[in-house]
Amino acid sequence: MLRSGAQLITTIKERCRTCYTCVRDCPAKAIRIVRGQAEVIGERCIGCGNCVRVCRQQAKSVLDGIVHVRELLAGKAKVAAILAPSFPAEYHDTDWHQVVGMVRKLGFHSVHEVAFGADLVARAYRRLLDNYPDRRHIATTCPAVVTYVEKYHPELVPNLAPIVSPMIAEARVLRRLLGSDLRVVFIGPCLAKKSEAGWNAEHPEVDGVLTFIELNRMFAEDGITAESVAPTDFDPPHAGIGALFPISHGMLQAAGISEDLLSNDVVAVDGTNHFTQAIEAFGTGALDVRLLETLCCNGCINGSGIDSRTPEFKRRVAVSQFVRERIHEQEPGQWQKWVGDVAGLDLHQEYTIDDQRLGMPSPQEMREILSRMGKTEPEDELDCGACGYATCREHAVAIHKGLAESEMCLPWTIDRLNHSLVELHDSNAKLASARQALINAEKLASMGQLSAGIAHEINNPLGVILLYAKMMQEEAGDDQEKIEDLCMIVEQAERCKKIVSGLLNFARKSKVNLAPADIREIIDHSLKAIQVPASVTLAVEHQMTESVAPVDADQLVQVLTNLVRNAIEAMPDGGNLKLLTDNAEGMVRIQVSDSGTGIEQQHLQKIFEPLFTTKKLGEGTGLGLAVTYGIVKMHRGNIEVKSNADPAKGATGTTFIITLPLRNPGGTDSSPIGRRPTGA
Ligand code: ADP
Ligand code: MG
Repeated sequence: MLRSGAQLITTIKERCRTCYTCVRDCPAKAIRIVRGQAEVIGERCIGCGNCVRVCRQQAKSVLDGIVHVRELLAGKAKVAAILAPSFPAEYHDTDWHQVVGMVRKLGFHSVHEVAFGADLVARAYRRLLDNYPDRRHIATTCPAVVTYVEKYHPELVPNLAPIVSPMIAEARVLRRLLGSDLRVVFIGPCLAKKSEAGWNAEHPEVDGVLTFIELNRMFAEDGITAESVAPTDFDPPHAGIGALFPISHGMLQAAGISEDLLSNDVVAVDGTNHFTQAIEAFGTGALDVRLLETLCCNGCINGSGIDSRTPEFKRRVAVSQFVRERIHEQEPGQWQKWVGDVAGLDLHQEYTIDDQRLGMPSPQEMREILSRMGKTEPEDELDCGACGYATCREHAVAIHKGLAESEMCLPWTIDRLNHSLVELHDSNAKLASARQALINAEKLASMGQLSAGIAHEINNPLGVILLYAKMMQEEAGDDQEKIEDLCMIVEQAERCKKIVSGLLNFARKSKVNLAPADIREIIDHSLKAIQVPASVTLAVEHQMTESVAPVDADQLVQVLTNLVRNAIEAMPDGGNLKLLTDNAEGMVRIQVSDSGTGIEQQHLQKIFEPLFTTKKLGEGTGLGLAVTYGIVKMHRGNIEVKSNADPAKGATGTTFIITLPLRNPGGTDSSPIGRRPTGA
């Protein structure tokens, strides 16, 4: 019996693998997906147990009945077991007398057939149809169907046949015959019976409910087997053809009501897929019948509480065979006598409206929800069903009702994941290159410090050497040999001074005198200072619209001549040299490209280091790019290189890209920023 506050079906979160199968198969749409987890909503659940049946992960747990039944059995009151008429479907390979014996062995005072209650219910239906020829009714033998109507078609509650289910009828029979303090436990194939037992919470008519699955567990716990018990008959009153109830259309047969499809008076509809549609159609009048008999499990022999995996037809045969045998055995007139014993028994049932319908989204809301899932055009609505809803629009409605999440849309989620993957890849690459740039900058900064220290120490002694060498030249008179030696000393000392000044430049220990200058003119000036060999084709292209920038013109000429000279030296057999200018985000950009040998990958990290050269002794000093780097940084600009030295990867060549600010950061265009401390 469903204790107040307890929920019939819950999800075992650790087992739920988010396959949405339960969402798909829930006729009441009572399963909500929250953060990827399926959650049964108690108020919306009709107890059909479909989600329990379809979940391959066995992630749905059903409210336990065993503990409470054991408490009842241990109590003082007599406890009667009432066995649902579908029991031969569960125990088809055991003699039914033995099954009754096994139930008895659990400690029940008596064991009865719910089918006798079904006999009475069938007769009540017969009377209902005869007495109210103008009314339309929905049969109420299936508690899941009743709950569905109460929650989702409250307007049809008046159409629910006001007759109790066979379970309640049987409980009333037994209380009438055996006393009102009798305790009754229903054993059957149905989960929804656990809810039904609690409908009348103040005066419960059924005290406990066990599914066949639970019954088998109790047998196992107590070591009860068919062989270990004495076969016995059911306790009276015995049933007639009410035992056919669990087979679809069985109720109609038991009630002597023929399903007359021609007159459309009575229609029987079974199965999860059909009962909701049938009720809908009954409501609209599209299905205009006097009695709609509908069960939600293709007959109770397919209930979720059935343990047996035997094929459906075998279960059906087992039930009808049992009924045939029973009726054959019965003494003529005995059944009528039993029915007479309970004449006038109240079989009336009331229903309550429990409206759980949720509002539909407006067309605007619908559009918004769909577009959140990337569905803006009709062709975006794939209706693939992967989310558990038949169409994208049904899914959108469920999102609106708070039952579903956008992430359940598989095609969209895959798309987003792919997108994120690409973004992640991009930002990873950016991060890696930024890291490398940082390492290089740090290395160059510490080199700068070292070079500046050395240069400073060497500068003074060099000055002294030069001074004394020049003094000695003056004093040498006509001593030609001495003069030549002293010339050599001066020449080499001058060369040292040049290197030292280059190092100081790299270390940014010198100053830049910034003044607005036209980059075009600086480029022209630089190119004039260099002789471009005939084998090299020079092209200059100015795309910049803003060409005046605060620069130290002399130093920038040095930068450009260094780059152009390197480019020419990289093309000993000739090639193309191109200078391209443009503007980007407050900067002027100068690119110097050549079609030369390119720079090998392992050298790329080192080219800005002072004294790094790949050229022959005497040809390269390894200072050009170091000085260039220092000057660009003193301008608060940036220098980058792109190069390919591998002909297998395409045309070889190198491009140096320099960007310089068009405006002085935080000052007037002409203020010399070289005086401010500069970062590495
Ligand atoms: P140097 O020219 O005296 O060797 P640099 O500092 O100007 O010193 O250049 C350092 C090294 O960078 C060169 O030796 C060369 O290996 C490489 N390099 C610079 N520019 C280019 C270029 N345009 N093409 C190929 N290699 C280059
Ligand atoms: Mg050079």
